[in-house]
Amino acid sequence: MSKAFDVVVIGGGPAGYIAAIRAAQHGMSVACIDEWQNRDGKNAFGGTCLNAGCIPSKALLESSELYHRATHEFSKHGISTGDVSIDVAKMQKRKAQIVRQLTGGIAGLLKAAKVEGLVGHGKLLSDRKVEFTPTSGETEVLAAGSVVLASGSTPVELKIAAFDGERIVDSWGALEFESAPEKLGVVGAGVIGLELGSVWNRLGSDVVILEAMDEFLSMADQQLARDAHKQFVSQGLDIRLGAAVTSAKVSGQKVQVEYTDKDGDQQLEVDKLVVAVGRRPFTDGLLAADSGVQQDERGFIVVDDECRSSAKGVFAVGDCVRGPMLAHKGSEEGVMAADLIAGEVTEVNYAVIPSVIYTAPEIAWVGQTEEEVKASGKAYKTGSFPFAASGRAKAMEQTDGMVKIISAQDDDQILGVHIVGPMAGELISEVVLAMEFQASTEDIQRTVHAHPTLAEAIHEASLAVDNKALNYPNR
Ligand code: FAD
Ligand code: NAD
Repeated sequence: MSKAFDVVVIGGGPAGYIAAIRAAQHGMSVACIDEWQNRDGKNAFGGTCLNAGCIPSKALLESSELYHRATHEFSKHGISTGDVSIDVAKMQKRKAQIVRQLTGGIAGLLKAAKVEGLVGHGKLLSDRKVEFTPTSGETEVLAAGSVVLASGSTPVELKIAAFDGERIVDSWGALEFESAPEKLGVVGAGVIGLELGSVWNRLGSDVVILEAMDEFLSMADQQLARDAHKQFVSQGLDIRLGAAVTSAKVSGQKVQVEYTDKDGDQQLEVDKLVVAVGRRPFTDGLLAADSGVQQDERGFIVVDDECRSSAKGVFAVGDCVRGPMLAHKGSEEGVMAADLIAGEVTEVNYAVIPSVIYTAPEIAWVGQTEEEVKASGKAYKTGSFPFAASGRAKAMEQTDGMVKIISAQDDDQILGVHIVGPMAGELISEVVLAMEFQASTEDIQRTVHAHPTLAEAIHEASLAVDNKALNYPNR
């Protein structure tokens, strides 16, 4: 046994590196093991989120949105641009630079917190021992007071549409295209399908999204999902619902896709196909047979509400455990695990985790959908406010969408807030905080909102819940 630590974290994504930093803040000795390797062969902390997920996708969404606005919207403001073009190689270079800066920043944060960043593979043995195999060098066994598993997730691969890394790709592949494919197919109209479909649609690809379910964005409030669907279709996204892919094969420079829908068997030929049908927990080589850590039938590490696994002193956080696969959910679990190890009393409020889809318009929500509240049998009231009635949204030329608030009829508690519209991902924070503090709808009604701001739409929607909207007719 070469080294001992108070805490060993396996995985350096947003769940793992945050757990490591928080544990170090408690004065504990901490090691964080990570094996992520980028396509240039270089290792980097930050996991999926920083290297191949949240950050690179948002960089491309921003670039492509600016290009789209320059070509479609500037003239409405009286701005003449002449010919506008996009240099995809330069756009990709900018994205890569952002990723490099941020992942390098995490290595710096670990160092500053005195966390020992170990590059290589970690495997949990019995009794909180961890086998560490560095990318170069000898395997050693580390002893830990506590272990935090944060091994993340990986894309689901369909046997009938296996990745070839060139024409049939996962989300990482779709973040790396060197030019906009003429015709792009996407399997799955989930978060990744919509975000990356939007990127390449804006950059000129003819995008067809095949979604097996009949319902669009089934996890979102259906009133807002329908509104968003209308807007995506008007942007040129060809979203085919009830379309179950049965086969995809590379044939020369093309991909031949077969799917079935209500009208029978269909075919589609595309230049590239992105398969984005969900992610699965990644635990390859993570657990020795006698680690004592249980997994469920889908491969998730089984944990309780405090992220304690079935092995004593072993926690698991982030995408490798139940709950939404979101970076901020994983980070909060990482903080909770470290605080619990330090002996503090803490919890994650799983009922108040915001979701954001970074399309244009953005879609954001927190709490229950109207469908969920209805199914619960609870008496409720709703209020909504369209961005078309917002002075700030008009000034921004972004009037699509609305805010909808669902509140309890009896005690006025806010049950869910759903936003489709400009900056929805930023706006949602106000109501996340309100719900965290168990605010009533009246609390938002009585809160002064600056004018003219997009946040006034939240204020007006809260007033509309009690038929008191001031800048939109009450119904
Ligand atoms: P990961 O980020 O996957 O990190 C796990 C790390 O552990 C990896 O570095 C892996 O190499 C390492 N590891 C695994 N096993 C071992 C081992 N045995 N030894 C050593 N190292 C190991 N979420 C959001 O909240 N907002 C977004 O905007 C968003 N956008 C996304 C866009 C895309 C295209 C994708 C794919 C995902 C996106 N997500 C987003 C989801 C988000 O990336 C994940 O929820 C988040 O990264 C999960 O964090 P994690 O730390 O649990 O796992
Ligand atoms: P998802 O679960 O959001 O969507 C997958 C979609 O694929 C579903 O609508 C599903 O019905 C459909 N599908 C499944 N099998 C199919 C088939 N055979 N044919 C056609 N459609 C099929 O998954 P995702 O988009 O791959 O994203 C994975 C995870 O990453 C999500 O859990 C998400 O939370 C996370 N993520 C988050 C963000 C964000 O927060 N903005 C962005 C990207 C990814």
